[in-house]
Amino acid sequence: MEWYDLYKREFPWRQTKDPYKIWLSEIIMQQTRTQQGLPYYEAFVSTFPTVADLAAAEEGQVLKLWQGLGYYSRARNLHSTAKEIYYTYDSKFPTTFKGLLALKGVGDYTASAIASIAYDLPEAVVDGNVYRVYARFFGIDLPVPSSVAFKHFKALAQKVLPTQSPGNFNQAVMELGALQCVPKNPNCTVCPLASSCKAFAWGQVAQYPVKAKKAKIRYRYFNYLIFQTPDHLWYLKQRKESGIWHKLFEFPLVETQESIQSNHKLLEKAIADYTTGGSKPVRWKQPLLHKLTHQHIEINFWFVQACEVQCKGYSKKELDGLAVPVPIANFIKETRV
Ligand code: SF4
Repeated sequence: MEWYDLYKREFPWRQTKDPYKIWLSEIIMQQTRTQQGLPYYEAFVSTFPTVADLAAAEEGQVLKLWQGLGYYSRARNLHSTAKEIYYTYDSKFPTTFKGLLALKGVGDYTASAIASIAYDLPEAVVDGNVYRVYARFFGIDLPVPSSVAFKHFKALAQKVLPTQSPGNFNQAVMELGALQCVPKNPNCTVCPLASSCKAFAWGQVAQYPVKAKKAKIRYRYFNYLIFQTPDHLWYLKQRKESGIWHKLFEFPLVETQESIQSNHKLLEKAIADYTTGGSKPVRWKQPLLHKLTHQHIEINFWFVQACEVQCKGYSKKELDGLAVPVPIANFIKETRV
């Protein structure tokens, strides 16, 4: 904790005990680098200063503000949890670990972080940084992440957590993992834990933590139809499928089992569903590869000339208010006239 006092980075959520802001920061920073998440945090706090403001927002506005952060279920859960807190708890966050854990989108990590930082409750956090620091310091070779490892590390983290300033202690371990005990080549000679760190003493820092086998990558092929019409509108639909980009707006999509290099009967069939007498599709540039943790998506954009389209059209101005996946936002930016 002395090290933390000296070296911690100053972030706005470290200046507050407001559970709403701590919750916001924790949800935003999940699977996101802090520098990338910071402007999003600031935008959310200034647009929605209280949980009641967030609860009163339209879902589309929340998704739009979230655009580019990925894992959009976090934004949808954030919004529905804000409504739950507003309607069920009179805009007051639950003040116990169990109460926090019962909220949608709040798992063990987030509940522990809010409980310890906002309320000084002795609840230990376990995230990727904590796994790394403790796996090395205690020399634990359980593969992470896994449910067995989680139970073990959680119990251990709980055991070493002091009752005084547990929130600061939690943040200190995580910050040590982020700045000092980094994944590759940490400089152990300047580490405050060096004298008792097992992995360092064994000369095996690089072997810890032991990584669990990664889930298989799923390959997908998305073909977007960009209808070009005399009215110059953009034709998009809200994505209904669960999973990635749920409820975001996208161009009419044809998903295929393999990459399509030229015209294809599935494209023609889809075009015929939207318009009569549409032109043959013409591909825009080379395919894009959009990589997510468990899936790689090859994306092709196909231009189609048409007179009328059976789909809702949006003007340029309306388009700016829609939340769209990042590859589509980039495509619009590059091709918009
Ligand atoms: S001594 Fe090295 S491996 Fe051990 S906690 Fe410090 S930085 Fe991590």
